Amino acid sequence: MAHDGTPRVAIVTGSSRGIGRAIALELAHRGSRVVINYRAGKDAAEAVRREIELSGGEALVVRADVSVEADVRTMMEKTIEQFSRLDILVNNAGVLQDNFVSFMSEEQWDLVLDVNLKSAFFCTKHASKQMAKQRWGRIINISSDAGLMGDMLRTNYSAAKAGLIGLTKSTARELAARGITANAIAPGYIETDMTSEWADQKRKQMLERIPMQRLGSPQEVARAAAYLASEQASYVTGQVLSVDGGLHM
Ligand code: NAP
Repeated sequence: MAHDGTPRVAIVTGSSRGIGRAIALELAHRGSRVVINYRAGKDAAEAVRREIELSGGEALVVRADVSVEADVRTMMEKTIEQFSRLDILVNNAGVLQDNFVSFMSEEQWDLVLDVNLKSAFFCTKHASKQMAKQRWGRIINISSDAGLMGDMLRTNYSAAKAGLIGLTKSTARELAARGITANAIAPGYIETDMTSEWADQKRKQMLERIPMQRLGSPQEVARAAAYLASEQASYVTGQVLSVDGGLHM
């Protein structure tokens, strides 16, 4: 709830599935109006909207490829048109294009950098103007332990996720005086479409590396995001919070 009693408004990029979906549901559950963003999964995004509305919340579905600045600008305009404010931005949309560095194509590099990193720059650029006017904002970037530790076959993804951490810290420094915080979450291995295709052998190897010996759930990441988006996190900015069962410490 904002100081004037109106509900907070949140944009969650890539919230038709997985972690983004869980974050959208959690923020709605805690009273925010939520913009559900998707690129290809219209039906899935509409299902998230229905789920929020059925439990008494409010949501708006907006298609936008967040790696395209014009799409991001339109998404911000639609948000303000509908809800007249913007308080919380969760930069969550992400893709993988795994390959050995020696064989990685320029297209694989560019796609991953554009969707995982450039998108967060575009969204932050446009959202921060509105948040600065309101003198309150929460920006949460979904990075990854891969950005802290590196990962096999993922030079593109690790570079993008490490880049998000630099973006988070500079944003935090620049916008602190305007009442806006910026933090990153670094999930470890979470049960979503991104990890469901693992062969049993790979799953076993991963579990051996995680002190808690299990994958995380999207809801466990969502609860961390909801904390960083809340009033309770008012003195926390520029931080990276791993949600990973102890994988990175
Ligand atoms: P996911 O299940 O594959 O979902 C990805 C989401 O991003 C979908 O909603 C997808 O929408 C959206 N998306 C993809 N490209 C987009 C674009 N250009 N514009 C707008 N939306 C786009 O992924 P996830 O596992 O939930 O991951 C979410 C975030 O957490 C990602 O940033 C990922 O890197 C990070 N992460 C995940 C894990 C993990 O273990 N799962 C670990 C560390 C970090 P459409 O379906 O409509 O295309």
